[in-house]
Amino acid sequence: MSLPPSRAAYVGRLAPSPTGAQHIGNARTYLIAWLAARQAGGRLLLRIEDIDSPRIKSGAAQQALDDLSWLGLDWDGEPIVQTQRLPLYKSALAQLRAQELVYPCTCTRSDIAAAASAPHWEHEGPAYPGICAHRRAVDADSLERPFAWRFRVRRSPDFVDAYRGPVSIDLTQVGGDFVVWKSAGTPAYQLAVVVDDADSGVTEVIRGDDLVPSTPRQLLLYDALQLQPPRFAHVPLVVGPDGRRLAKRHGDTRLSALRAAGVRPEALVGLLAWSCGWLPQPEPASPADLLPLFDLRRIPNHPFVLEPELLRRIGYSPT
Ligand code: GLU
Ligand code: ZN
Repeated sequence: MSLPPSRAAYVGRLAPSPTGAQHIGNARTYLIAWLAARQAGGRLLLRIEDIDSPRIKSGAAQQALDDLSWLGLDWDGEPIVQTQRLPLYKSALAQLRAQELVYPCTCTRSDIAAAASAPHWEHEGPAYPGICAHRRAVDADSLERPFAWRFRVRRSPDFVDAYRGPVSIDLTQVGGDFVVWKSAGTPAYQLAVVVDDADSGVTEVIRGDDLVPSTPRQLLLYDALQLQPPRFAHVPLVVGPDGRRLAKRHGDTRLSALRAAGVRPEALVGLLAWSCGWLPQPEPASPADLLPLFDLRRIPNHPFVLEPELLRRIGYSPT
């Protein structure tokens, strides 16, 4: 299947975060996003999501580009780097302030934990209990403590996911008013991603399904900033044999480690293509080989369990 026709010519993106190394789970999502864009004859942008400064690892951005190239995935144009775009995010925040859609929040993590109820969505913390919601934007000028900016959630947009179908999440229960600007003085993911995707003319966002609860928040921001939202497809993640998200406890699944161990990229790409239902067996393939076979709807709608046996098949024994 090719993706249904979009409003504009297809513009997709790959958006690695250089907060750590890219692993097999990231590779699967990038492969899907690359195939969707290339099969549609679209453009594919690359954006380095490096605004989360305390967690950024030096060299990880270049490593992510090297990992993508090793996989055989390319992109169009120069990489877009978030830390070079702060003025854009600042002006978006100013627009939200002017509309009283955000308020300054001085809460600490423990203030929030003490007042909040239990989380309602996997990977999400408890809903913000609204402690600072009485403030107006101008109150920020007289605050002495560091503060974050929170967006006032008054409704929760439903959306139709190009992979999952209709999605409905009640943001008042999941997360509540969310942070768009951190107390450290940097934009939060939700704001930066909306500003960037809109500014780059992105029409299709394909990403891991851990980000499903971010999408209604981003739709609120598109609306508030009067920007045109893209279409969204959230695809299942890769998990370890224990059913948990791929992490160190599952052994070293970093692409750089596979590369150093001499694994052929075609072996990994073929394994991932098999996991997506495009190949009957995990046999070697290049991304270009998969173009005629790519079909978003064939991807099984549950996480891909990366059994150690599968890694051995591609000639890798994780340590
Ligand atoms: N940078 C995010 C990640 O690596 C992706 C964000 C997005 O696709 O919106 O998980
Ligand atoms: Zn607060």
